[in-house]
Amino acid sequence: MIEYRKDISGIKSRINIKRGRRFNIKICPFCDEFVEKYTPKFDFIKDGRLRKGDSILFPNKYPISKYHAVIRIKRNHDTNYSEEEIYNSISLALDFARIVYDIDKNYKFVTIFWNSSKESGASIEHPHMQVIIDKEPPFMTSYFIRFSKEYFDKYRKNYFEELVSKSIFSHSNIYVTINDVPLCYYETILIFRRISNLLDLDENSLKNFSKLLSNIIKFYYSEGFHAFNLSSFSHENYKTYEYFYLHFRTCTRKGDKVSDIGAIELFQKEQVIDYYPEELSKKLLKFPRKNL
Ligand SMILES: [Zn+2]
Repeated sequence: MIEYRKDISGIKSRINIKRGRRFNIKICPFCDEFVEKYTPKFDFIKDGRLRKGDSILFPNKYPISKYHAVIRIKRNHDTNYSEEEIYNSISLALDFARIVYDIDKNYKFVTIFWNSSKESGASIEHPHMQVIIDKEPPFMTSYFIRFSKEYFDKYRKNYFEELVSKSIFSHSNIYVTINDVPLCYYETILIFRRISNLLDLDENSLKNFSKLLSNIIKFYYSEGFHAFNLSSFSHENYKTYEYFYLHFRTCTRKGDKVSDIGAIELFQKEQVIDYYPEELSKKLLKFPRKNL
C-alpha cells in the first residue's frame, strides 16, 4: 500500500495511490457523532484506539508509513488550542510510538506533525495531528542528524547549542529560537536541550512544550495567520547523542487556498504522492510532440 522510495542522491518520496481519494468526504469523520463509525482501528491496540481527554488516536486511512496514526485533537472545529489539548494529543502520539516500539523494534524513528488546516495541507478540517514511525528518519531529519554529527566530529561542538545561543527565551529545558536562516515562513524552532528523541520526553518537558506551542500559535493568529505546520525532528528512540537535540519546527502559511504541501513536504522535504512516476513517464511519452 505504501511504497518508500530513495534516489541514489538520498532524496526520498512516499507513494500511496489511494491518497487521491482523501478529498471525497461529505461528512466530518472526526466529529464525535462519526468518529467511532468512520475511523479505523489498530489491531495491535486494545479497543483499537487510544484516548486522553477529548483527544483520540486511530490509524490514518491513507497511510504514508507502516505505522501512521491520526490524533483528533478536540471535539469541535475551534482552532484555538489550549495547552491541555496539545499535551493530550502529543501524549497519545508518544504512547502509540511506545506501543509500536515494543512490537517492532526496527521502527525507531518517530515524527509528529501537524497540518492545521486545508491551507497548510490538511485534507480534513477537523483539528488533528499525525504521527509516523519509520525505519529510517525522514529526509531532513536524517540531514540534520548527519550534519550535526559531522559538525561535532570536526569542531567538538553541538550545532544545536548554536541555535540555543540564539534563543529569544526559554522555559526549563526548552529553547525558542528564530533562526536567521528559516526553512519556511515565520519559522520558530523549539529545542529540547540534552534530549535527542521524542520517547525520552518526560511529563514536565511535554507540559512545558505544550504551553510554549499554544502561545506561539496564539502569536501566529495575532499576526494574522491562521494556517500553520509543525514537525518534530527526532533521533532514534531512547538514545541520547551528544551532537543531536530533539526539536520541533513550526511555521505559518501565507496562502488562503487549499494546499497540497503539508509538513512532510515542507519540513522533511519528502514528496508524498498518489501516482507512479513510471505511469507519468508513459503518459508523457504518449503525448504528441509537435515540432520536436
Ligand atoms: Zn469534525
